[in-house]
Amino acid sequence: MSTPTIRQSYERISIYSPPVETWRIDLSDNTNLWGTPPAASAAIRSFDPVLASKYPQPYSTELRARLADYVGVSPDMIVVGCGSDDIIDSAMRAFAEPGDLICMSDPTFSMAPVFAKMNGLERAPIPLREDLTADVDRLATAKARITYLCSPDNPTGRAVSFSAAEEIVGNAPGLVIVDAAYAEFGGESMTALAEGGRAVVTRTMSKAFGLAGLRIGYGIASPEIVIAIEKARGPYKVNVVAEAAAIAALQNDLPWIRTRVGDVVANRDRFSLALRELGYDPIPSEANFVLVPVKSCRFLVERLNRAGMSVRGFPSLSGIGDALRITIGPWEMMQECLDVIGAAR
Ligand SMILES: *Cc1c(COP(=O)(O)O)cnc(C)c1O
Repeated sequence: MSTPTIRQSYERISIYSPPVETWRIDLSDNTNLWGTPPAASAAIRSFDPVLASKYPQPYSTELRARLADYVGVSPDMIVVGCGSDDIIDSAMRAFAEPGDLICMSDPTFSMAPVFAKMNGLERAPIPLREDLTADVDRLATAKARITYLCSPDNPTGRAVSFSAAEEIVGNAPGLVIVDAAYAEFGGESMTALAEGGRAVVTRTMSKAFGLAGLRIGYGIASPEIVIAIEKARGPYKVNVVAEAAAIAALQNDLPWIRTRVGDVVANRDRFSLALRELGYDPIPSEANFVLVPVKSCRFLVERLNRAGMSVRGFPSLSGIGDALRITIGPWEMMQECLDVIGAAR
């Protein structure tokens, strides 16, 4: 017997395979480089293992209430998932049929086109404007069943204004997914876009909250959209340990997180300035990373790897060319990175 035939659109999808090496200093994936926050750490350590034999609540009622407080909406406007990836994927499935059009910037978050393919959607890539921000007018008028907008965007770090995002939500014919994974680090709050019932604003505990390994993301949307996404998502997506740690973080780690976000913003500006002094032209960023156009990303990635450091290299990004995306962490890490880049000139 031959292998069963897989869904045709899956033949064009490759398995996500980030590098598996561990690095002394890993500036490649925009996680919190100060680590796991203290109250979340304590909650993981003191978790009662007996509870692991029970199912969690199917749609994480308690965590939704805490997240609702954190962003300032009612709990029926929150949907949680296994990372915000899960929300983005489920929202595409809930609001488009296979064969429908999805529009998004090119480049944008690398997983967005992957989820589009997984859901059988046709992607309309919209080039960035000259200042490397999303082309709001073209996204608003692309007549797509789903519009994906990332702000602050990955990998550029550029954000659009609330009113620009509002223009897209007001004009796009279908659901607008506003990916605000880096909201804590800059840009205008997109939360109020959820009010109109045509958008889902996605957020995550993987970046500022330092909990990437626990896989907790959430969406902010009207109750009708929340229920539709929950149907596409399925029950029990946030496990009991993750939920306990996330609740502890929202209860007691917010001051810690605010301090780290402040450190990121200060180090991001200092790092960008130092790169400019070395003759580079880093793109002004509202996120916890900077994108640095370079002549050859392979050359610099290799130099940094040899020094025990990892960054994300993007060969030939549309409209930008080769670039390095460097996560911002404690200053000692940034200084080591600068030393290697400086020595490579
Ligand atoms: C990191 C990131 C996410 C978060 O993914 P999780 O599944 O929540 O870990 C979502 N969108 C963008 C643009 C990101 O960079």
